[in-house]
Order: sequence, then structure tokens, then C-alpha cells
Amino acid sequence: MDDLESIKAYLPEAVRACRTHSEQGEVAAYIPELSKVPSDALGICILDRYDQYVLEGDVELPFTLQSISKVFTLILALMDHGEDAVFSKVGKEPTGDDFNSMLKLELVEPGIPFNPMINAGAIAISSLIAGSSPQEKSERVLTFFRQITRNHTIDINHDVYRSEAASAHRNRSLSYFLKDNGVLTGDVEEVLDVYFRHCSIQVTCMDVARMALLLACDGTDPATGQQLIPRRYVQIAKTFMITCGMYNASGEFAIGVGLPAKSGVSGGILTLVPGRLGIGVVGPALNNKGNSVAGVQLLETLSTRFEWSMF
Ligand code: GLU
Repeated sequence: MDDLESIKAYLPEAVRACRTHSEQGEVAAYIPELSKVPSDALGICILDRYDQYVLEGDVELPFTLQSISKVFTLILALMDHGEDAVFSKVGKEPTGDDFNSMLKLELVEPGIPFNPMINAGAIAISSLIAGSSPQEKSERVLTFFRQITRNHTIDINHDVYRSEAASAHRNRSLSYFLKDNGVLTGDVEEVLDVYFRHCSIQVTCMDVARMALLLACDGTDPATGQQLIPRRYVQIAKTFMITCGMYNASGEFAIGVGLPAKSGVSGGILTLVPGRLGIGVVGPALNNKGNSVAGVQLLETLSTRFEWSMF
């Protein structure tokens, strides 16, 4: 059993020291609404399988899931269609390119996105969510997030959603490219709408820690023993988190922290210690790779101190 007491004793000083690193980063502004947050915020929630948790820092700060949502829309698409259908639309490899790049879609045959963690891949995955309309698909996604966070008040931040929908020129061009390549079928704007909405789901560190704990427990709710996600799909999701969850710093994070993780441009990070802990972090100032600068620093500090690395 993890000694949450010693983590709790260690956290205040670790958060204080790591918060200062925020100065080296910048809050994402390409989605205008995202820039309206305090850049030096840093918060963390660490939750164990016995429902004991520690909170430190700006844990009340709401933030949108952004790319963290991609882990779970991938899982939903796998649950809806199985591996063969999903991996006919997206690959399994890291790109080495930016998260919103379209370079390899043209350069590498057969023109499917390299993986479901980059924007092109996640948009392709959004098209696979079951439902007869974009509204029904978005409802299904939201219901799933409410279930896995055990928080029925979770909702879309409509200001962020509208802000992204109005400024997503790059994602639009990617998506029309995917349509031309035959990856997307149907109405492109409807697929994008599902994507924008799941990126705009608003959470706190505690919600993210609960989602992470479910992955740490291989898809079984530790409180009830209920298998909410098939183990195989959790395994696939965690593998993508290791290989491409932290953008082009995934290798660096694997070496420095050694845990599966997914970050988002809002400064959130979801990570987990297999079988033991779910962790949610928020720190909106991003480094030049797009990850929370203070958040990564904090996770490195904690992983070193408590020997969390899987490797
Ligand atoms: N909604 C964001 C976008 O599509 C997500 C990006 C991210 O968090 O990496 O640009």
C-alpha cells in the first residue's frame, strides 16, 4: 500500500518549488479562451485504490481535458468497433512531428494518421464514436466521462468549445485532408463538432486522478470491482500514453518520470502508477513541447523521490 502520508508531507514543498518553473513556460493562446488562466497555477491530486487521496496547490482550478480526452475516446471507439476497425483508420506509431501536423498524411502511404494521440488521429477516432447524430455521440462521450470520474456534474465548457470551434483552422484543414484520403466519411463539420466538444470537457485534478486510477487498475473500478473498460483496451491506451502521450517529449518523460501519461494544451496531465495510484495535475504554463512545465517538473520530483518509474 502506498504511504499517502509521506507523499502528503512531501507535497507542499515540492509544489512550491516546482511552481516557480511556470515562469519558463507560456499558457496556450491559439484557442483564445485557454489563455484566460493564471499562468503560475499548479495543482495535483493523487488517489489510491482505497479511495484515499491527497490534494495540493490549485486543485480547485477547473480546466478542459483537451488532448487528455483522446485516451478515452480511443477506448470508446475500441469498445464500439474493435481493434481491426480502429486500426484501419489510425496507426500505432509516434510521429516526431507536432500534434497538429499534416506533413506525414501526405508523405506516408496510406495517408492515415500515425496514431490516435495526435489531432488528425483523434479526429479520425471521433468519427468512430457510436451514435446516430453528433449530439448523440457527444452525449455518449460525456456520459462515459461522468461514469469514469464518478462525477455527474461534469460538463462541457461552452466558452472554450466556441473558442476552439471558431479558431480551429488547422484542425479543419487536417480534417478535410482526411476526408479526401478516405479516412473520414460523412460530414466533416459534424465530426469536428464531436472532437471540439470532448476537448472542452471541464474537470479538476480530482476528476483526472479518478480517470487515471481506472487505467492504473486495468479498467476495473477499484471500489466496486466492476470492469468498466476491457483490460486489452486499457493496455492499448497505456501503450500509446508511453510512446506518444507527452507529444514530442514522450521519450524524455519516459526517462524522467517512467509512467504512462497524457497531457493537454490546457496544462493538464493524467498519469498513473500501475496498480496503485491515479494522478491528475494542472499547470497551465507550457514548455516548448506543449507540456505543463511545472507539472512535468513536479512529476519528475515525485517519481524520483517515491521510485515510481516502471522501468
Ligand atoms: N483541442 C486541442 C486542439 O485540437 C487539443 C490539443 C491538445 O491538447 O494537444 O488543438
